[in-house]
Amino acid sequence: MGSSRATCFDPDTHIYRPSIRQFVTDEYEAYVYDLDGTLVSLAVDWDEVAREVAGVLRARGVGVDGADLWSMLELSEEHGYRRKVDETIAEFEREGARTSAKLPLADALPHDQPVGVCSLNCEAACRIALETYGLDSAVDAIVGRDSVATEKPDPEPLLATIDGLGASPERTLFIGDSQRDYETAENAGTAFVYESEWLDRV
Ligand SMILES: [Mg+2]
Repeated sequence: MGSSRATCFDPDTHIYRPSIRQFVTDEYEAYVYDLDGTLVSLAVDWDEVAREVAGVLRARGVGVDGADLWSMLELSEEHGYRRKVDETIAEFEREGARTSAKLPLADALPHDQPVGVCSLNCEAACRIALETYGLDSAVDAIVGRDSVATEKPDPEPLLATIDGLGASPERTLFIGDSQRDYETAENAGTAFVYESEWLDRV
């Protein structure tokens, strides 16, 4: 299985693909975008969110010293407070989606092929951000942090998005802005490109 996880980087297209599929055509049947930092920039003060979440967990006797927001989300899962913590974060995200900024790549939408959004943000925030900029009609499937049981870089959210588009992973391009997005694509077996490189191509 090792070889199927190796990727090759095409210096002309700046697209990474699993090396085993390097001869796959450049014509994708679906595109999946990350949300925050890729299509829009959510107006969220993540330090403030982390302080709020720390307060929620401390009030319930959970030690959070030195934990970042992501670790606290995992801690909340372990201690049975995931729903409460998720809702605390989601409140900030929904508000941050209403006041988000549209990024240049958003103007690449719509595509002729189906488009999905696969985000670490809650699904409601994704919908609000897309609606705020009239992008909702250009997006056919949305998967957020709370849509499936796992989060990126687990492949499940991306695979669920692709499934919702009726496409196949090997003919899907995932566009994101983070190492976590890249790893997700690798785990799901899709091609991947960073948003800055994609912006030069669309
Ligand atoms: Mg992002």
